[in-house]
Amino acid sequence: MQTATQILIVDDDEIDRLSAMRAMRTSKQSIEFDEASSEAAAVELLKKNKYDCLLIDYHLVGTDGIDFIKTVQRRDLSIAPIIILSGTDDENIMLQCLKAGAQDYLLKSELTSNILMRSIRYARERKQVAEHLRFIAHHDPLTGLANRTLFMSSVSQAMARARRKSRTFALFFIDLDHFKEINDTLGHDVGDTLLIKMAQRMTASVRESDIVSRFGGDEFAVLIDEIKDKGAIIEVAEAMQRRVAKDFQLEDKTLRITPSIGIALFDPADDAELDAEGLVQRADMAMYHAKKEGRNGFSFYEREMHLFALERTRMKQELTRALERREFEVYYQPQYDIEHENIVGLEALLRWNHPQRGLVSPAEFIPLAEETGLIVSIGKWVLDQACSQIVAWRKAKVLGSQKTSVSVNVSALQLKQQDFCDTVKTILEKHNCDGSELVLELTESMLIEDVERCAESLEEIAALGVRVAIDDFGTGYASFRHMLQLPLSYLKIDKSFVDNVVDDQKNADIVTAIIAMAKALGLHVIAEGVENRQQAIQLRESGCTMLQGYLFSKPVPADKMKTILANS
Ligand code: C2E
Ligand code: CA
Ligand code: CA
Repeated sequence: MQTATQILIVDDDEIDRLSAMRAMRTSKQSIEFDEASSEAAAVELLKKNKYDCLLIDYHLVGTDGIDFIKTVQRRDLSIAPIIILSGTDDENIMLQCLKAGAQDYLLKSELTSNILMRSIRYARERKQVAEHLRFIAHHDPLTGLANRTLFMSSVSQAMARARRKSRTFALFFIDLDHFKEINDTLGHDVGDTLLIKMAQRMTASVRESDIVSRFGGDEFAVLIDEIKDKGAIIEVAEAMQRRVAKDFQLEDKTLRITPSIGIALFDPADDAELDAEGLVQRADMAMYHAKKEGRNGFSFYEREMHLFALERTRMKQELTRALERREFEVYYQPQYDIEHENIVGLEALLRWNHPQRGLVSPAEFIPLAEETGLIVSIGKWVLDQACSQIVAWRKAKVLGSQKTSVSVNVSALQLKQQDFCDTVKTILEKHNCDGSELVLELTESMLIEDVERCAESLEEIAALGVRVAIDDFGTGYASFRHMLQLPLSYLKIDKSFVDNVVDDQKNADIVTAIIAMAKALGLHVIAEGVENRQQAIQLRESGCTMLQGYLFSKPVPADKMKTILANS
């Protein structure tokens, strides 16, 4: 059975109300009416009931149709379509009513059953489409969560409310740890499924009145309104972290993904100038801090984080000028063959001599150079230095008889450049350097990001005689299948494995397995970060072919390297 259409008629003239009702009754459809003779009476009815359509007289006592529409919208009284009934045939008023949000404007003098019923039907359809479009514009299609636009306006409203009532609320900024790697290795379908699942878990961790939103990618934000105290917030954060980090079964795989949560509290007493954008930024900074603290945790925003962010901005600016100011220097660390402990390679490692700060660690500035894109020009400079250096050493006859190559670290962004291969080629030619004298080190995670494309670029590079090493191996998710697709020559076992190779049997087994796999692929295996003899012995037993680390030498400036080479 079809339910009756619920109509509310608002008109201060009883005769007009009756004639509208009569017009509708003559149609065959089942309709139920409520009547109101004033805006106040209408508001009371709207608070209690849901209607399918509102028929509003334009000339209400003390107000007009446009104000009434605005009241309904401002107070969120109804989402029903509105039709204005008017005695005035005025084009201007009609347009204003439509602009304000009315679906139609009908003249009372022309009101027939047909016209009114058709108008109601169209108004409802149009309103449905409009609501649907509004939903799409404000929600993330994948998870159905509020999107950034809707979230930001909710935060603005919450801030206004908090200021009026002198209350605080909290904002979470959430980033899923290592999500990108999972997405890249297991595919976007798995990534999407995970995002949907995590969105559900986040929603389940908060109250219905709180707003969970997807900001894009693997970033989420949550608005937690009406909080008791900081302790209550910590409870929510811990609960969310536990829930999100639970194992997740997908077909035959067990996946686990952890969140890093940044929390900003809004206190109207302290933050008179702050806007929604600023508050989200604070939560974002706190999230960044949580990541730095080791991920899978939460951090509250503190003022110092702001200073830290400023510091980063300043560093980025200084980094822009570092090249032309000649503040960079390339250090070299030798690599030894495990049999005779001869130097067979050198890794070029960048150093920044900052005029005030002194030597800045690459771990600190390389990420900034990547964010700003400066790594492309800086990386080119390192390549140029390394090639010119190896040729100079060869001429000075300090390299010995065997071919010693120099390894240069390459960032993902460099490899993505269309002209990367041309750049390498040009630099080799400029220094009259042979391709076989150069090795490029690429990290595991960047290679599997887009294996097909990487394979293409690397084939071009290999055609120049340049060899490729897969760096930091064991920290990402590369599979045998990935590695088969790439023209690799070296595999570098990450220092974290080398650190525990002596004391930790399980760790030693992993190293042995990695080496066996590398051998099956015909790769040389370099262990990096070798600090003591026992490690060297253990690595040799496991079948490792090359060693690099403080046991032999720290990275040193070029002139010092020359001495080491000359004496070896
Ligand atoms: P990486 O490529 O994994 O380089 C190895 C790091 O381990 C170097 O740190 C090296 O100094 C350090 N190391 C070597 N042996 C030992 C050891 O026995 N014990 C310990 N504790 N550490 C050891 P460094 O020079 O600070 O470089 C850090 C990272 O910065 C590098 O990691 C690399 O990812 C990046 N990097 C350095 N130079 C460049 C460059 O020119 N371009 C790019 N894109 N990245 C670079
Ligand atoms: Ca490296
Ligand atoms: Ca490494």
